[in-house]
Amino acid sequence: MFRLINIAGRAAIELGGGYFDLGRLTGDDAMADPMAWMSRSDELHGLAERCVNQVADGEIGSVRPGPPVPSPRQVFAIGLNYQDHAAESGMELPPAPLTFTKFPSCIAGPTDDIALTSGLVDWEVELVAVIGQRCKNVAAEQAWDVLAGITLGQDLSDRGVQFTGSPPQFCLGKSFTGFGPIGPALVSVDSFADRHDIAISCAVNGEQMQASSTAHLIFDLPTLVAYLSSICELWPGDLIFTGTPDGIGASRGQFLAEGDVLTSEAPVIGSMTNRCVSGTGVLPL
Ligand code: ZN
Repeated sequence: MFRLINIAGRAAIELGGGYFDLGRLTGDDAMADPMAWMSRSDELHGLAERCVNQVADGEIGSVRPGPPVPSPRQVFAIGLNYQDHAAESGMELPPAPLTFTKFPSCIAGPTDDIALTSGLVDWEVELVAVIGQRCKNVAAEQAWDVLAGITLGQDLSDRGVQFTGSPPQFCLGKSFTGFGPIGPALVSVDSFADRHDIAISCAVNGEQMQASSTAHLIFDLPTLVAYLSSICELWPGDLIFTGTPDGIGASRGQFLAEGDVLTSEAPVIGSMTNRCVSGTGVLPL
């Protein structure tokens, strides 16, 4: 069992309010690369136990963790994977996982601001699976074994861009810079009492908008890993956004506005807090 966070671009184990740099813990600085450790995630279970007797490198309360997987090679996302959400969207249930990509440049940290791109930016809280090894044609029965762990994410969506035409423009509407906050931690699959039933929820300014559980997924996580890996080779650090439940803004006629605070939560993983700001700023290059 382990809880992995990204502190200033270095992977660390979080335990008891402190964090422990993976490079220092292992004596192998390569392990501190937040894109390298996941293919050796088996080693982390024992390391977490060893932290108990060590002095932490710092307190978690005094730092702002970055995205636990900052630069995935591939980011898959699944649409219409909860029945209630498909119903609120007025769409038929897909016969196979409806898959699109969030381009990896959209990945952001668990407390990063959301730069609004229009008045039609919407929330979608989702459980996110993180692949732990290079694999292809994974059987559903083996799917949990190829994961490095689980994190939480927001599949932020500019509905204006997404529905520019027909068919919709899923990939770009969901890939603006910062539209993929993940975190606050990546936890091992064995951290959950029931890995098939993980609660996810989100709130805007403290008002709950979405609350469901992965028990209600139409295509569950093993099915998604089996399906995607039957087509694409999967790599360590690849992300799968597993789909969002009902309660999105578009079905409420409400979208994110400047100053709004979006909080997303899952037991064990923790919560993300992302504040909405004006998106007119230019990123420094
Ligand atoms: Zn989504």
